Amino acid sequence: MALADDFDGFLIDLDGVVWVGRELVPGGAEALRALLDAGKEIVFVTNNPALPAASYAERLREAGIAVADDRIVTAAAVTARLAAERAGPGRGAFVIGAAAFKEAVEAAGLELLDGEAGREAAVVLVSGHRGFDYEELLTATRALQSGAALFATSRDPTLPMPGGAWPGTGAVLAAVETASGATAEIGGKPERHLFELARQRISGAERVAMVGDRVSSDVEGGRWAGLETVLVLSGATSREEAEGAVPPPDHILDDLAGLLR
Ligand SMILES: [Mg+2]
Repeated sequence: MALADDFDGFLIDLDGVVWVGRELVPGGAEALRALLDAGKEIVFVTNNPALPAASYAERLREAGIAVADDRIVTAAAVTARLAAERAGPGRGAFVIGAAAFKEAVEAAGLELLDGEAGREAAVVLVSGHRGFDYEELLTATRALQSGAALFATSRDPTLPMPGGAWPGTGAVLAAVETASGATAEIGGKPERHLFELARQRISGAERVAMVGDRVSSDVEGGRWAGLETVLVLSGATSREEAEGAVPPPDHILDDLAGLLR
């Protein structure tokens, strides 16, 4: 009997699980198609703030995995909504992040402040992006010194990529927290906000597993959300690290295809 038979729903991470960079993990797309064909409910959950949910859904569909846009929950959207709830609609926000994150913040009802105006922001939102620079760090620091609240999509230190990990949101956030002395509230994994929204999307499923490649976000978050946890070794975590985690994941698999073996 395959492990997948124990569950009727799955929350599945994307980076390091379905793909690494733009390369699909071998066997992953076939495994996901088989799970969907078997009637399993799947929501994909990602801390990666680079693209909107619809773009990740499109990439999955290009790989032959038939999912609707609302089956993707991103930390960017969850964090933007959380900051808007905390600050109130229409408040000024300074965003360190990719265009998709800025669009999510605007869609959540906050007003984007750019450049020097960012120093007057009521909230600062942080996610890793390749354009991060000293000016952004300075603006965020000034806003936080003046009492702005700090939010971030995650503390993930790295992003798994072909050939080696790239600096992630946690690395950028560390600079902002170090300079300002502020501590961020996190919208993405392992915090409950993302898991609550993802779980609502498949509320009909009763036995749900969290499948991810990182102990500190996927496994810890899944456990706190009351889910059984499956760590796959196709991304950020080695077998030694996975087996040494305290407490360890409920299941350790080489990759997604292992759910069906
Ligand atoms: Mg991952």
